[in-house]
Amino acid sequence: MSWEAVIGLEVHVQLRTERKLFCGNRVVFGDAPNTHVCPVCLGLPGALPTTNPQAVELALRTALALGCTVHLRSVWARKNYFYPDLPKGYQTTQFEEPIATAGLVAFDDADGVERVVRITRAHMEEDAGKSIHDRIPGNTAVDLNRAGTPLVEIVTEPDLRSAADARAFLVSLKQLLEYVDVSDCNMEEGSLRVDANVSVRTKGETELGAKTEIKNVNSFSGVEKAVEIEIARQIEVLEAGGSVEQETLLWDDHRGRLRSMRSKEDSHDYRYFPCPDLPPLVIEQAVVDAARAQLPELPRARRDRFTDAYGLSVYDAGVLTQSVATADYFEAVAAAAGDSKAAANWVMGPAQALMNERKEDATTFPVAAAALGELIGLVADGTVSDGAAKKVLTILAEDGGSPKAIVEAQGLTQVRDDDQLAGWVSEVVEELTDEVTRYREGETRLLGFLMGQVMKRSGGKADPRRVNELLRDALGS
Ligand SMILES: [Zn+2]
Repeated sequence: MSWEAVIGLEVHVQLRTERKLFCGNRVVFGDAPNTHVCPVCLGLPGALPTTNPQAVELALRTALALGCTVHLRSVWARKNYFYPDLPKGYQTTQFEEPIATAGLVAFDDADGVERVVRITRAHMEEDAGKSIHDRIPGNTAVDLNRAGTPLVEIVTEPDLRSAADARAFLVSLKQLLEYVDVSDCNMEEGSLRVDANVSVRTKGETELGAKTEIKNVNSFSGVEKAVEIEIARQIEVLEAGGSVEQETLLWDDHRGRLRSMRSKEDSHDYRYFPCPDLPPLVIEQAVVDAARAQLPELPRARRDRFTDAYGLSVYDAGVLTQSVATADYFEAVAAAAGDSKAAANWVMGPAQALMNERKEDATTFPVAAAALGELIGLVADGTVSDGAAKKVLTILAEDGGSPKAIVEAQGLTQVRDDDQLAGWVSEVVEELTDEVTRYREGETRLLGFLMGQVMKRSGGKADPRRVNELLRDALGS
């Protein structure tokens, strides 16, 4: 029998606000426990929340980036449950009337085919605190610094069909959120948390099978692994004639295993009702229009523009638009160099390699786009060879300065004088008689070796294209 997986995701995104959603406490990761709390986020009787406008602004921008319909009036709801890290006894969230619904997010699957995932809704909510199990032996401690941190929960339709697609979608979603700068998307610090709903059905079936929910996954590779394992498990159960139990599964990243947490509550168990302490969230149409007008160019649009305007391949354009910083850097280099293809090759090649080596990215890389552009110009007009230019790039990163001055100071100007080049060529041909004979007898791959010898004699400064021509002449090929 042929099976098909059906996957939907719930992604919790921590908004990068300075303060919590309903009180004035700062949002800080890693500080001493319970040092950023107040009567509001502790849920003390009589404390009244007020909504942080910066969180609303970021949620609005998120909704627009997801292509959602923004609702000018949304309603805060209480989701009631008891848990030690939830001092109020309820989470303030949005339920029946969320801030945004009906969006679309595109991604490319492993074969490079564009897929589109429907976004059911995006709603605002506050985070809970954190239970800490390893601080006091035999007891659980609670840190409420995180309680009240603003989140947007993004819920997709069950449009994904494989674990690999789920991961590819998440990579695209994260890139989108980074482009619109609503979250730091730091997965280690929990700024992006993913739950996955998984079911399987026979191919061609339109009804959904019973689903399980995977929680507690904190990396995209973890999501892919967990979903893959769960798909295989469900198929095995069904093929053995059993049925899939609706349940919540916890992902154990160390063991690479899922374990059952509890049978899933139905939503009515939470007794949602509108929060009496908070008025509905009202946004003016003019504010939505202004936010839409201020959205930056989104990643896929920018990638398409890079292929059209710069004549880059889809792959190269994809690499160069992975982050806003890289895309900006490339565009500035291309403008300075006046050659977009060379700029793409330099940014993706030597510059990226140097960034990796120096553990930097385009935001921290010290070589200004104008300097790299100038250096590319020096290669193009024959002043320096490619190899020497790489040396100049390293010096630029370490000491700064102007490419031209470095080339002169280091004596890296390319030698293109035929007499001088011919001198090195004949030296090599006269001295390495054995290799030359073998080359002439048909061992043509020795050309590279002989080329290398000439370049070495020139201290790397010879124009390699001209050397190649002169050497072939001298060898009689
Ligand atoms: Zn507070």
